[in-house]
Amino acid sequence: MIHNFNAGPSHLPAEVLEEAQKAIINFKGSGLSILEIGHRTPLFEESVAEARALVRELMQLDDDHEVLFLHGGATTQFMQVPMNLLDADETMHIAHTGVWSKKAIREASCFGKVNILCSSENNNFNYIPEDFCVPESGKYFHITSNNTIYGTQWHRIPESPIPLVADMSSDILSRRIDFNAFELIYAGAQKNIGVAGATLVVVNKKLLGNVTRDIPPIMDYREHIKANSMLNTPPVFAIYMSLLTLRWLKKFGGIEAIEPLNKEKAALLYDAIDNSSLFRGTAKKEDRSTMNVSFVATNSGAEKAFLDFAKQKDIYGIKGHRLVGGFRASLYNAVSLESVKHLISVIKEFESGYNG
Ligand SMILES: *Cc1c(COP(=O)(O)O)cnc(C)c1O
Repeated sequence: MIHNFNAGPSHLPAEVLEEAQKAIINFKGSGLSILEIGHRTPLFEESVAEARALVRELMQLDDDHEVLFLHGGATTQFMQVPMNLLDADETMHIAHTGVWSKKAIREASCFGKVNILCSSENNNFNYIPEDFCVPESGKYFHITSNNTIYGTQWHRIPESPIPLVADMSSDILSRRIDFNAFELIYAGAQKNIGVAGATLVVVNKKLLGNVTRDIPPIMDYREHIKANSMLNTPPVFAIYMSLLTLRWLKKFGGIEAIEPLNKEKAALLYDAIDNSSLFRGTAKKEDRSTMNVSFVATNSGAEKAFLDFAKQKDIYGIKGHRLVGGFRASLYNAVSLESVKHLISVIKEFESGYNG
């Protein structure tokens, strides 16, 4: 068995893959593959409706929040969010906490004014900024709830007198938070929701229609809401994979049940790293992520040796992002406690035999 710690696309539950396999051959007994059916057939329309309803249920969303499955990844949302929310003479505030916020800043500046309210760039983004105050004079405040590359996470939702917008690509559905406190949430599906190709957007519809620009219909959230997330051909298979993963999460007991497991996985791995003489974590303790554990070897020779060793032990996807180096183990919802324990035992075994 391979233990997959990939950052995204990432591990999927085995039962989700088995269900998907069936649907590729014969979708819901139709005799057609999920890859062949028309998106406007009741069989698929009910899948989209169920996926949207499951998101609403799992996140406990109120009636003002709409759930959409769109194309283009979280990266398209860096552009689509300001296009829908920010007029040219208005300001959005943003917490700059890594590579993804940098892209959000760049894209938003095409549409309006961007103010970097706080940043952790001075220390290679290894912490979450604390000393800032969100001004009332802004259109919205944007955060990246979990920084996939640097392994930091907002453990407290910041107070904001203006609408909160979050890129939750890498920690959505992983912990109990008040999702209704956000006016807009977006997430590429390939980390905690399903597979690449679908993007989840949750938006408070009261926020929409407040810009003067003429928004191209395909970029306009209101058009997607009206069309029940079927404005054009949606990413049919990717949405179906999201549905299967959402069903799996519900069966597991929802966010309430997965959160303690996610905490346990992260605590065990951080503990092993903290108690190791060969490895150390890169993120500030209070801010480290339960989803992406980034760590480095204290000795550069050990780095390659550990990667080779881990590979022999069926560990996949732990090479760190090039901007941080070292290692990163992504512990998304679908990654089992067993896999994490295996990784820990491999770390310990490597350490005891290492004399480089
Ligand atoms: C992966 C990731 C993205 C990019 O998502 P795409 O689907 O590749 O566009 C953006 N933000 C965060 C926090 C991510 O983890």
